[in-house]
Amino acid sequence: MKEKVEKLKKEILEKVEKAENLKILNDLRVEYLGKKGPISELTSHMKELSPEEKKDFGMLLNSLKQSVTEALDTKKEKFEEEELNKKLASESIDVTLPSTPIPTGSPNILEHVIEEFETVFMSMGYDVVDGPELEEDKYNFELLGLPKGHPARDAQDTFYVKDDELLLRSHTSPVQARVMLAKGGIEPVRVICPGKAYRRDDDDATHSHQFTQIEGLIVDKDIKLSDLKGTVTVICKKLFGKDTITRFRPSYYQFTEPSVEMDISCFNCKGKGCNICKNTGWITIGGAGVVHYDVLRGCGYDPEKWSGFAFGFGAERCAMLKYGINDIRTFYNTDLRETKNFDRREED
Ligand SMILES: [Zn+2]
Repeated sequence: MKEKVEKLKKEILEKVEKAENLKILNDLRVEYLGKKGPISELTSHMKELSPEEKKDFGMLLNSLKQSVTEALDTKKEKFEEEELNKKLASESIDVTLPSTPIPTGSPNILEHVIEEFETVFMSMGYDVVDGPELEEDKYNFELLGLPKGHPARDAQDTFYVKDDELLLRSHTSPVQARVMLAKGGIEPVRVICPGKAYRRDDDDATHSHQFTQIEGLIVDKDIKLSDLKGTVTVICKKLFGKDTITRFRPSYYQFTEPSVEMDISCFNCKGKGCNICKNTGWITIGGAGVVHYDVLRGCGYDPEKWSGFAFGFGAERCAMLKYGINDIRTFYNTDLRETKNFDRREED
């Protein structure tokens, strides 16, 4: 009986050893360890044996079962590992393959123009400051020479949030008033304040109820109109080309005296006349002037000791001129194709 068991063991282990895949291994497991298999059959002979023999034979059969199970399990693990390795190898990532392109954003053209202004002004020692878009009547109008009932307020009609005291600022000038008040009339001021402003306009190709101003202010000792002209000339040459010529025309604003409109020579036709400059050779790009006595006084500066100039550019207008955009709504319609269109490297 013992020999029979040994023979069977040898036979099974050989077959396990030769098994070539998991299926054969499973079949072997069913064939030998199943209820109708030879080991089960041998167990059924137990009852014919004496108690002594039963014990020995039982141990023998147990050892056989254990050896067969171990051999099957070991082989099974080996197959499974091989299969996993094969799978991993077939699924490995080829890092040299080109990746799927991820679309990247580009700066809004208006933002780009503002940054250009900021860079030039910062190089001349100006600080860039910000202020609230929701503004008090006092800062937006009164401190800037526009008391209640002043006719010039009509041209700057805006959106009122609470009674007629809280409004969306109609220009960025209130930031200048705030800066002057913060400096307390004893320190010089040199700032630009780019930001959004609002007016009650019907939107069309050249008007927008929301627009962007780039205003600046300098308050110091002995500041003259000629300093303003020099400053404006530098920024215009930088933005519109080295041979740009600047021209001032007399104008009127409540917060400056004298006031001027700033023109540049047409960068397109160089003064000969074209459709951009409406055949005049000149393009108006903003307004400016020497800060009015009353504004200085109202914001805490003694006009006998201090003087200054202020200027304002329309960011949209500059961008439209510079990039040939003919509809102001382009900046606000959030069409990414437009933004992409202007995403190009500028030459200095
Ligand atoms: Zn022109």
